[in-house]
Amino acid sequence: MSRHRNVRGYNYDEDFEDDDMYGQSVDDDYCISPATANQFIYSRQERQAPKEEPLEEEEDEAGDIPMSPTVDHNFDPLDQAKLYSCLDYMRTVLGDAVPDSVLTQAAVRHGFDPQKALNSVLSEDTKTALVTRSANEEIGRVSQEKRPLPERTKQETVAEKAKSRDVSHNKLDSEVVPKVARMTVTGKKQTMGFDVPGTGENGPVVPSVRRGGSPENAAAPESASKRPETPSKGPNVDEFSASATPGRSSGKTRQAINIKAELEKRQGGKPLLNLVVIGHVDAGKSTLMGHLLYLLGNVNKRTMHKYEQESKKAGKASFAYAWVLDETGEERDRGVTMDVGMTKFETDSKVVTLMDAPGHKDFIPNMITGAAQADVAVLVVDASRGEFEAGFEAGGQTREHALLVRSLGVTQLAVAVNKMDQVNWQQERFQEITSKLGHFLKQAGFKESDVFFVPTSGLSGENLTVRSSVAELRSWYSGASLLEQIDLFKAPQRSIDKPFRLCVSDVFKDQGSGFCVTGKIEAGSVQTGDKILAMPPNETCTVKGITLHDEALDWAAAGDHVSLTVTGMDIIKINVGCVFCHPKEPIRVCTRFKARILLFNIEVPITQGFPVLLHYQTVSEPATIRKLISVLHKSSGEVLKKKPKCLSKGMNAIVEIQTQRPVSLELYKDYKELGRFMLRYVGSTIAAGVVTEIKE
Ligand code: GDP
Repeated sequence: MSRHRNVRGYNYDEDFEDDDMYGQSVDDDYCISPATANQFIYSRQERQAPKEEPLEEEEDEAGDIPMSPTVDHNFDPLDQAKLYSCLDYMRTVLGDAVPDSVLTQAAVRHGFDPQKALNSVLSEDTKTALVTRSANEEIGRVSQEKRPLPERTKQETVAEKAKSRDVSHNKLDSEVVPKVARMTVTGKKQTMGFDVPGTGENGPVVPSVRRGGSPENAAAPESASKRPETPSKGPNVDEFSASATPGRSSGKTRQAINIKAELEKRQGGKPLLNLVVIGHVDAGKSTLMGHLLYLLGNVNKRTMHKYEQESKKAGKASFAYAWVLDETGEERDRGVTMDVGMTKFETDSKVVTLMDAPGHKDFIPNMITGAAQADVAVLVVDASRGEFEAGFEAGGQTREHALLVRSLGVTQLAVAVNKMDQVNWQQERFQEITSKLGHFLKQAGFKESDVFFVPTSGLSGENLTVRSSVAELRSWYSGASLLEQIDLFKAPQRSIDKPFRLCVSDVFKDQGSGFCVTGKIEAGSVQTGDKILAMPPNETCTVKGITLHDEALDWAAAGDHVSLTVTGMDIIKINVGCVFCHPKEPIRVCTRFKARILLFNIEVPITQGFPVLLHYQTVSEPATIRKLISVLHKSSGEVLKKKPKCLSKGMNAIVEIQTQRPVSLELYKDYKELGRFMLRYVGSTIAAGVVTEIKE
């Protein structure tokens, strides 16, 4: 069926033959060259394989490496780059709770070592309430991560645990500054491991240790090598009873489940669609989706009334609908979405998992996490005069978000041209926006036929679930409402037949034995009773329970955002970013890999040793561009230059990336979802890439 076409794992090559609409060259300073974007996104190289010849291994010749231009007079370019990377890193943990000047001083004092600098900021500021919260979380977490557990004394560990527990008792949920996206399948943000009092199997509950956004020794290669994370010794896979293929029989008491057949029956046969809502801060994303959920009956009148009263009392009456999704106190206080909220609703033909991504640029890493798990997107733009322009300009999030989701594999996009009430539902304004944005989206690699513009008002609810009755709008618009448009999206094909993969987006302690991890199943399926392998730390555990959309299930499959209750493993070993996989066909773990990258509109050329933050799925890991291997031709993929000295905007290149700690990755050709990534630097996304070779 045509509507069941793969979206994320779409075979672009098939499409490319007859559709080269993005191949034209359009000059636009703000965005990547269409030819470049196209070349990259559509994986043309698989057809026109880059004639990349084997290059000799380069020695690190720090002496003659050309450096990026100086952006600050006080530092040499490399230090400047390190400083920015370090600041970036600290901000992913601290948000804007600590002034830049303090962060800069700490970074300089500690030789741009992100972890040390962060530790020092956190411990210096323990007197102030705000920072105390972050500090204690971080000290608890960092100190746990700093050394491998066996090296730490029992007393230390207990003391750390106790400390974290005390902190968690004293802390309100609203006070937690999210470090990484907290996504759940319940629609409510789960309490992080830090916050949940209780006892684990072996004593007190320890904080959940998050991989994403968590700093680690800058002397990482050393610390990394100490971590028992490489799959060298291999797990005891004999105990594993699950098979990669659906319809297996595993364990004595378990029934064989034919996953494919069950999937057909589930939710009345409605396919699942993961939808991310993106757009510039204040475009009205939360209001729009909160109102949509209300109109769909997902939020009852009493709760809505409560939100109205509370928001009025807080002097933020206009945010009542946004409060449906912005759940933490801090989000409400600040009036911005920081985390990725998740909930479920249904259309006529789909079950939709909705992710509301933060628009503020400080939270783009969280947004990437959300987008990486999405099949389709709703881009919300503010139609008000000046506001659309602000979001669309360089520095606004409209362009960056659109580019990000496209690079992360989203091909279908609904653009909600929101706040149309502010411009009297003027057709001219709608057309002006659709023409500007349409042009850009085409350049970013979206097909015209996969982008749909819908005029909306999130505040008044017009054109959300039913077609609008506003005369001014009806006079020129007779198209679909936003919900109808979402219903029209094609559901993706899932990689159900591949070995099981789930990238952890949250870890928390629940009542009962074991602990819970949440995340989207990227491939394969899982059944209660299965033994699964966590990479890192290369240890197996048993699946005791599976929850999807608040419902306990016996099985779940690719595409599902689930919560797994697992036993037989210590919670402390699992971080956000760990991948749970099939023990017999584990994911690779490495610190070095080769990748093909597409550089966005970067100001500073990339040179060897350039520090970046590597983002993919729920992982956010400091890394460096270890080698510049070659520059490729934008459309043919031919090697234009070997061992370039630097890379500049719009270039397509093969590089080698070195991460600080081991990361679990796949080749793009095997698992698209686990083989594509983004690189960020100084708070902006500088490149998108795909993994072509995993080194070690
Ligand atoms: P977000 O940051 O994109 O999630 O934006 P919010 O949903 O928090 O909305 C930001 C502000 O815009 C709030 O004051 C909303 O009441 C207001 N807003 C949202 N949608 C509309 C709309 O359609 N019309 C008008 N007039 N205001 C809106």
